[in-house]
Amino acid sequence: WADEFAQNVRRDFPLLNDRKHRRSLAYLDSAATAQRPASVLQAMEDFDKHENANVYRGAYELSMQATASFNDARQAVEEYLGASRREVVFTRNTTESINLVALSWGSHNIERGDVIVATLAEHHSNYLPWLLLSQRVGAHVELVRLSSDGSIDEADYERALALKPKLVALSQMSNVIGVENPLDRLVKRAKSVGARVLIDAAQGLPHCGMRVDELDADWVAFSGHKIYGPMGIGCLWISADAFNEMDPVMSGGGSISHVGEGSYYLRPLAIQYEAGTPAISQAIGLAEAIRYVKGLGPNNICRHERVMTRYLMDGLRSIEGVTVWGDHTAQEGLHGLVSFTVEGVKPITVSKFLASLGVAIRAGGHCALPLHASMGLTGTCRISMATGTCRISMATYTTKEELDAALLALRLLVRLLSRSRALKEPFARED
Ligand code: PMP
Repeated sequence: WADEFAQNVRRDFPLLNDRKHRRSLAYLDSAATAQRPASVLQAMEDFDKHENANVYRGAYELSMQATASFNDARQAVEEYLGASRREVVFTRNTTESINLVALSWGSHNIERGDVIVATLAEHHSNYLPWLLLSQRVGAHVELVRLSSDGSIDEADYERALALKPKLVALSQMSNVIGVENPLDRLVKRAKSVGARVLIDAAQGLPHCGMRVDELDADWVAFSGHKIYGPMGIGCLWISADAFNEMDPVMSGGGSISHVGEGSYYLRPLAIQYEAGTPAISQAIGLAEAIRYVKGLGPNNICRHERVMTRYLMDGLRSIEGVTVWGDHTAQEGLHGLVSFTVEGVKPITVSKFLASLGVAIRAGGHCALPLHASMGLTGTCRISMATGTCRISMATYTTKEELDAALLALRLLVRLLSRSRALKEPFARED
C-alpha cells in the first residue's frame, strides 16, 4: 500500500518527474526542504500572473483581490493549526519566527538571573536566539539532557523546571533523532511552573500536524518549505496571553493603524509584526501546500511514513558497521527521519559516495552541534560535514525503490571498505 501511495503522490511533483531527475535521483533530504506539488507552483504562478498587487493598500480591484487572497491564505493556516482569526504572523521561516519571539517578548520579559529551558536536541535556530538573549541580559539557558534512546530525559526536564524558568523552548520533533516529543505532557509540566512555552514545529508539523487549540503552548513556529510550500515563508502562531506581553521590534508600513507627528498606534492584531510588504505569493503557496497535505490525509501520511521508516530501519540495521541514532521502536519514532553513522567513514564521504549513485542524503551536524557533541560525534562543536551523522529523510512521495537505492549504495560502500581494509590499503579507514 505505502509504495503505491507514494508512487501516486509522486505524480503531483514536477521536479521528481522531470527528465533530468526521474530515473537518476533518489531525493532523501526532505527534512532540509521538501519538494513542491504542481498545485503549489500553480497557485503562486496564478497570483503572480493575474493578481499581483500590494495588499491592504489599494481601493482598486487588483489590490483588493490580492488582499482577499492573502487573507484567505492566513485563514487557511489558522484553520489548519486550530488557531483563532488573526493569530498567525507570516515570517520568512522558523528561524525568523523564533528570533521574533526572542526579541519582541524576550527583550521585555527575560531579565538578569532568569532561566530559559531548552533541550540538547534543539536545532541551532531554537537555541541561539535564547543564548544570545541570555548573554545580552545576563540570563541563563539550561539544556535538558536526553536519555540514551534520544528521547528527552524527563527526570532531567523536571530538574530544569525546578529552576522556575520563564520560558521553555521545545521542538516537536528533532531534526536529527526523528522522534516525536510527548508535547502534551511536556507543555503541561512547563505551564504548571508558570513558564511560557515555544514550540519549534519546523520538523514535526509536516509529519504529525499541530493543533494549537489542543496544546497549551504560547508560540508555534514553522517553515513553509518543509511542508511542501515555498521557501521564504514561515509562520509564527501567538497565543492571546503571549501577545499581550510582546512589543514589535520592527515597525513601518503595514504594522500600524495610525501615525501622527511623534505618535503611532499599532494594529491591534498579530499582523502588527508584519512590517513592510509581506511575501504574498509565498503565503498563497503555503496555503495551497496545506490544502494539499489535508487532501492527502494525515492518516495516510503517517501510515506511509511508518511503513517506510520501518523498512529503512530494518535495512540499515542489517548492514554491518552502520549505527542508527535514536530509538525508533515506538510509533512516535517513525516519522521518516533517520540518522546513522558508518563505522570508520566520515559522514561527508558516505554522502558523496551515495551522491555519486544518485542518492541525495545529508551529512554533518544538521545545525544541532550540542546534540552531536553529547553523542560523542563531534569533539569540537565546529560546523563540518566530516563529523556528525548521515541523515535520510523522507516525505509523502518517498518510494521503496529510493530507499533500496540508498541501502544498496551503503552495502556497496561497506563492502568496498572492508575489501580495501583486508588489502591494508591506506585509504581504507578515515579518522
Ligand atoms: N528547527 C528545526 C527542528 C529544523 O529542522 C529547522 C530546519 N532544518 C529549523 C528549525 C530552521 O528552519 P528554517 O531554516 O526554515 O528557518
